[in-house]
Amino acid sequence: MARIWNFSAGPAALPEEVLKQAQEELLDWHGAGCSVMEMSHRGKEFMSILDQAEADLRELMGIPEQYKVLFLQGGATQQFAQIPMNLLAGRSADYIVTGSWSKKALKEAQRIGNVRCAATTEASGFTRLPTADEIKLDPFAAYLHLCTNETIHGVEIPAQRIAETGVPLVVDMSSHILSAPVPVEKFGLIYAGAQKNIGPSGLTLVIVHRDLLGMAPLTIPTVMDYAVMAENGSMLNTPPTYSIYIAGLVFQWLKRQGGLPGMAAVNAEKARILYEAIDGSGGFYRNPVDPDCRSRMNVPFTLAYPELDAAFLAEAKAAGLVSLKGHKSVGGMRASIYNAVSLQGVRVLVDFMNDFAKRNG
Ligand SMILES: *Cc1c(COP(=O)(O)O)cnc(C)c1O
Repeated sequence: MARIWNFSAGPAALPEEVLKQAQEELLDWHGAGCSVMEMSHRGKEFMSILDQAEADLRELMGIPEQYKVLFLQGGATQQFAQIPMNLLAGRSADYIVTGSWSKKALKEAQRIGNVRCAATTEASGFTRLPTADEIKLDPFAAYLHLCTNETIHGVEIPAQRIAETGVPLVVDMSSHILSAPVPVEKFGLIYAGAQKNIGPSGLTLVIVHRDLLGMAPLTIPTVMDYAVMAENGSMLNTPPTYSIYIAGLVFQWLKRQGGLPGMAAVNAEKARILYEAIDGSGGFYRNPVDPDCRSRMNVPFTLAYPELDAAFLAEAKAAGLVSLKGHKSVGGMRASIYNAVSLQGVRVLVDFMNDFAKRNG
């Protein structure tokens, strides 16, 4: 059976090595006589899986001791509500809107409390970052929220562009977490749904500074309270055990790739050759995003002749290149080139794109 070259935005490709290991361990995990799916979340076998996953994640990202790592559920979308429920504490918060996801995060937080849009690039079609003088920050905000990689618009905020502002930074890293080293100590809270760059859906990672725990009002539902989840080691109730197990295998795979510096080098090369193919196509392909904030993970592009879209997708599929249709809100194409998409996979895509342009340009 041949595996496709999978450019899905999420749920997305997983490393084949990880899937094979999961297959080998499916019926009998390490002599336990059952699958990870079938074992108690409080038994010593699963506890060892969870502890190892957390230790490997801490090592990969260099997460300082004063941060808690929470293995939650509900996706990044639940975090859009859970963050203000936990952190607003009767105050206001600032949101910078750089694409669909940060816009959704702002809208959801507005249902919970008093939050402000501190800047938005919607009028420029979410193709650039706001300039410093366009950002109007409230120095008394409970936190400042950013989405550091906009999965739909293909806009990424480079780590070195993120300045500390004196209020805790809360960041949605769903679609580029673990793609390169990040300075965790700059942030108050990092969150990510797993199904882009970590593992299967159903798991949501929250990395939170302990100073931000315990601020929630007494009326918060227990299961939504970060402090309670932290006190209970993410085990207040049953966590998404199988997703945590697969995420743990991905963390070990990442360590074998040279950790995040190793991943960053491969990811930079993948993005370089794909943007080069787009920019070098003489206008046949186009990516509208400012070169200084183009995403290394999600690359949207349009064809100069939209009537060729269907042929592009059909021929790509016939060549084994799948899930290249762009998000319905922006149209065109999108190639998501997460960690598990190899340099070879991107080379196959680039060769196909060059050939398609030559035949149809
Ligand atoms: C996919 C995505 C979300 C939504 O994630 P769910 O896990 O489906 O709730 C939020 N933010 C970003 C940046 C995403 O890529």
